[in-house]
Amino acid sequence: MRSYTKVDKLKIAHTNKYNIFGCIVREGPINRAAIAKRTDLSLPTVMAITGELLEKSAVCSIGKGDFGAGKPPEMFEVNPDFFYVMGVDLGRTEIRIIINDATFRQRLCYKEPTGYPFPEEAFICRLGHIIKDLIGSLNSGQARILGAGIAMPGLIERETGRVIISPDFGWKDIPLQSRLQELLPFPALVRNSNHALALNESALENGSDDNHVSFCVNLGYGIGAALIIGEELYAGAKGTGGELGHSVVEKGGPFCKCGNSGCLEAVASGEAIARQAAVIAAHHGDSRIAELCGRDISKLEARMVFEAAEAGDEGARKIISNAADYIGIGLSTAVNILDPDRVILCGGLMRNGPFFFEKIRAGMEEHVMPCSGRKLKLTVGKGGEYGTAQGVCRAFLNSFWSEQLLPI
Ligand SMILES: [Zn+2]
Repeated sequence: MRSYTKVDKLKIAHTNKYNIFGCIVREGPINRAAIAKRTDLSLPTVMAITGELLEKSAVCSIGKGDFGAGKPPEMFEVNPDFFYVMGVDLGRTEIRIIINDATFRQRLCYKEPTGYPFPEEAFICRLGHIIKDLIGSLNSGQARILGAGIAMPGLIERETGRVIISPDFGWKDIPLQSRLQELLPFPALVRNSNHALALNESALENGSDDNHVSFCVNLGYGIGAALIIGEELYAGAKGTGGELGHSVVEKGGPFCKCGNSGCLEAVASGEAIARQAAVIAAHHGDSRIAELCGRDISKLEARMVFEAAEAGDEGARKIISNAADYIGIGLSTAVNILDPDRVILCGGLMRNGPFFFEKIRAGMEEHVMPCSGRKLKLTVGKGGEYGTAQGVCRAFLNSFWSEQLLPI
C-alpha cells in the first residue's frame, strides 16, 4: 500500500508564526501584503497570525502607510517592549553593558572598571550580580529579557562558550557560558569580542547586503580581527579565526603574551605603544611623555603617547609611526589573502585623530599587491564605545532566530 508522509500541523503552524514574526521584527514597519510576499504565505494565513500576534501584544499597528494611490494599508512593527536583549562587553579595562529593546533601540547603557579579573569564580559571580542589578533597575514592566550575549577577548569554543585562553584576562579553560547560565534567569551566549565588534560594524556599514565582504580590525589594548560575509561571521573551522594580532611581522621581535614573539600585537597594540613609550619616559624625565604620565611609568597609556606625538614629541611620533607601519603590513597580508570590499578599523587607538589612520593607509597601500579593479574601502568604525556590546547582542539574536525560537 502506498504510504504518505504525515504532515505535522503544529510544526507548520510554528514555522509560519516564526516566519511572520521574524519578518515584522526585521523588516517592520511592514504591511500584510508585503509580509505575505516576503514569507511566501497566503494573505489569509498572514491575517490570522498577525491577528494573534496583535492580541498577544507581540506586534503593534502603527497606523496606515502612505503608498500613493489606493487604500493605505495598515502597518505593523514589533512591540518595542515585548522583549529585551542584553549585550555585555568584557574589556580589559572596562565592562560595558547595554540593553536593547525588540526594535534594537538601546534602552540602557552602563560601564564600570573591570578591575583585576581574579579569581575567575569571584569575577563571574560579580558579573552575575551586576547583570541582575541592571535588570532590576530597568523597570521593564512586562518585558522579558530573551538572553544575554557576552563578548570576551581570547579564544572561545563556539559550541560551549568556554574560554580556551584569554591572555588579556589571564584565563585558561574557564566554562564562562555554563557558569553564567547557572547564575542568570535567562540564556547566555559567549562570543569572542572581535567577532562581536565586527558583526556590529558590518551591519552599520552594509545593512543586510549579503554580497559585502568586510574585514574588521580592532586596534586597542590588543589587536584582533574578524571577517564578515554578508551578515554572517566567517570564523574558520573551529571558530577561532581572525587572530591578525598574532601573525608575526618581525622575526625575533618582542615577546608576545600568546607565547610567540614578533607578533603584530607585540609591536603595534595599545599595550605595545605604552610599553615602548615607558622606556623613553624612564630615561628622559623631561620628555612630554614623562610629563603626561606624571613621571610614573606604571600610569602610562597609549592615549598619552598619541597626545605627546600631537604636541610634537619626536620619540612619541616615532613610536606611533612604527606601529602604524606594522599595522599597514599586517593589513596588506590580510587584504592579499581575503580580498575584502572593505576594511574597517575600530578600537581605542582609532580615536586618536587622522594622523594614525593616514599612516596606516599609506603603510597598507605600500605593501598590498597591486590588483586592477580592486575598489577596497578603508574606513573607521562607527559603533563607538558600546559597539562590541551591540555586536554581541546581534550575535545572541542571530543564534536565537537560527534555532527558530519564538519569544511568544
Ligand atoms: Zn602573539
